[in-house]
Amino acid sequence: MEIQGKVVAITGASSGIGEATARGLAAQGARVVVGARRTARLEALVEDIRRQGGEAAYRQLDVTRREDVRSFVGFAVERFGRLDVLVNNAGLMPLSLMEHLKVEEWERMVDVNIKGVLYGIAAALPLFKAQGSGQFVNISSVGDRVVLPTSTVYSATKFAVRALSEGLRQEVGGSIRVTLVAPGVTESELAESISDPEMKRSVVEDLRKSIIPADAIARAIAFAIGQPADVDVNELVVRPTSQT
Ligand code: NDP
Repeated sequence: MEIQGKVVAITGASSGIGEATARGLAAQGARVVVGARRTARLEALVEDIRRQGGEAAYRQLDVTRREDVRSFVGFAVERFGRLDVLVNNAGLMPLSLMEHLKVEEWERMVDVNIKGVLYGIAAALPLFKAQGSGQFVNISSVGDRVVLPTSTVYSATKFAVRALSEGLRQEVGGSIRVTLVAPGVTESELAESISDPEMKRSVVEDLRKSIIPADAIARAIAFAIGQPADVDVNELVVRPTSQT
């Protein structure tokens, strides 16, 4: 596995999949840079990684602000001299029926789930081109290919992540790798963003029936990063065995 020494920046690393990915990659010798809004969580994560002999740094990040994302990537380079991988992971999932017109939540999902990824690409692409190498790992969802009632807008944002990952891959393939990871139901704090209490209760109940730990997705991400430079794992879909 070609992970040792790589510099990997991860957005949305204060919980769930991002946090598990930071821990997993650091344990395999990557130098990780973690970003999110909850800095106390990031600080504790970095301390923990360092205590276990890993290398890590954190920076406050709101992916809806283009300048923040640019500074986050710049910070990784300042800190570790280069950037090998950007994991565009930050996301929200406030599920609701469209007829409830939760327009502000739709906007928030567009801002975080789509524009946040685009800002990540805008920040790292010139750097990857200058380095002559780099990898984007964009986290979508099985919702990037399946739409259910209540997931319409969330799925639309993840369809977008899948589309822009594929377009980017075709455009920059050669020296820059683009990997899409589509998780199924995974343990995390994602359901916390559901504002409708009844919806949250039923989703959480449903989730408990079939769920995998965040580390399962972290391993898939590590698999894609760990391939030799001429191998680009384009898409990985990782579901609990029992998820339909
Ligand atoms: P969590 O809620 O545990 O993690 C989401 C992360 O995103 C947090 O670290 C949060 O940090 C961060 N985040 C949210 N808004 C912003 C923002 N504006 N700027 C920076 N960071 C932000 O959920 P998951 O780990 O599950 O989610 C990670 C990704 O996986 C998401 O893209 C999600 O859509 C995807 N996914 C998850 C699935 C699941 O079942 N868990 C299934 C399919 C896909 P903070 O609040 O500190 O900013």
